[in-house]
Amino acid sequence: MNRKLTRKLNVGGVAIGGGSPISIQSMLNVPAADVVGNVRQARELETAGCEILRVAIPNRQSVRLIPAIKEATTIPLVADIHFDYRLALDSVAAGIDKIRINPGNIGSDDRVKAVADACRLHGVPIRIGVNSGSLEKEILAKHGGPTAEALCESAMYHASLLEKYDFNDIVLSMKSSRVDAMIEAYELASQVCDYPLHLGVTEAGTERMGLIKSAIGIGSLLQRGVGDTIRVSLTADPVREIAAAMDILRALNLRSGVQMVSCPTCGRTNIDLIAIADEVERRLACCKKPITVAVMGCAVNGPGEAREADIGIAGGNGVGLIFRKGEIVRRVPEDRLVDSLMEEIESL
Ligand code: SF4
Repeated sequence: MNRKLTRKLNVGGVAIGGGSPISIQSMLNVPAADVVGNVRQARELETAGCEILRVAIPNRQSVRLIPAIKEATTIPLVADIHFDYRLALDSVAAGIDKIRINPGNIGSDDRVKAVADACRLHGVPIRIGVNSGSLEKEILAKHGGPTAEALCESAMYHASLLEKYDFNDIVLSMKSSRVDAMIEAYELASQVCDYPLHLGVTEAGTERMGLIKSAIGIGSLLQRGVGDTIRVSLTADPVREIAAAMDILRALNLRSGVQMVSCPTCGRTNIDLIAIADEVERRLACCKKPITVAVMGCAVNGPGEAREADIGIAGGNGVGLIFRKGEIVRRVPEDRLVDSLMEEIESL
């Protein structure tokens, strides 16, 4: 896959853009006043594989979250700030790794300059996060609504305010709850600038629908080589966002790990393949081996249909088969099928 080459930025030791691996982001959703709860969730997200973590900084008191989280984890931390430029300055002073702020929303040029200068001095990139629900009135009127062109124009407007002060360590996001508008907006931006792009569908929905929209929106852009870092937004535990993001990257071969294939079952299936496939997926969730594992419902067609898989199982009528590249290597009792598969994978 040819990726669009963007500027390379450093966010607390994690590179974004310039061909760096696509990083996975998420955001804490514990109330900002609860320091202990935020630290606990940050640790959970780090364990789950989150690579860049955002925290809302709604007031001065919440700036204390920054040292508390940074002390407890090693994930680069992003401060999410709306309107109050002093919170950006305080966050930089508190050791934040990146700021998410829209310069057009913080008032006078002096304030924008103060934020740009502080971020430059400390090597802190800024993400401009444009959202279909909060576009500037003039831009909405010009484009007749939150279109892709409107999203892109708004992002470029905010970026120009930082460029005025020679600040270019910028990441852009142009999120829309409409997948088609989001895809088009990012494509437009990738044609007119070389800033790294943070991909996401905003207000994507509950776990199932949010994952579908994100897989289509984020996935189609990544497939076209557009995008440098991603966040799957779900109305769910943010740990689920990490699993979803990893699955999207794995499905596109942008992250190594197990690729699982399993058949849809049919009238020839004589084992509880749905439960077996779920168990295999769960037990391989942390496996980093770059292999394809097949879980097939019948011995007659399974090994042949999944001959591309490095290893697989097929079952039925009390006996299970283990096969490699379509060739049967072992027969095992059906109740030992998953354990035997795991032993084989261990030995690979
Ligand atoms: S592998 Fe066997 S059980 Fe599964 S769909 Fe194909 S024929 Fe049916």
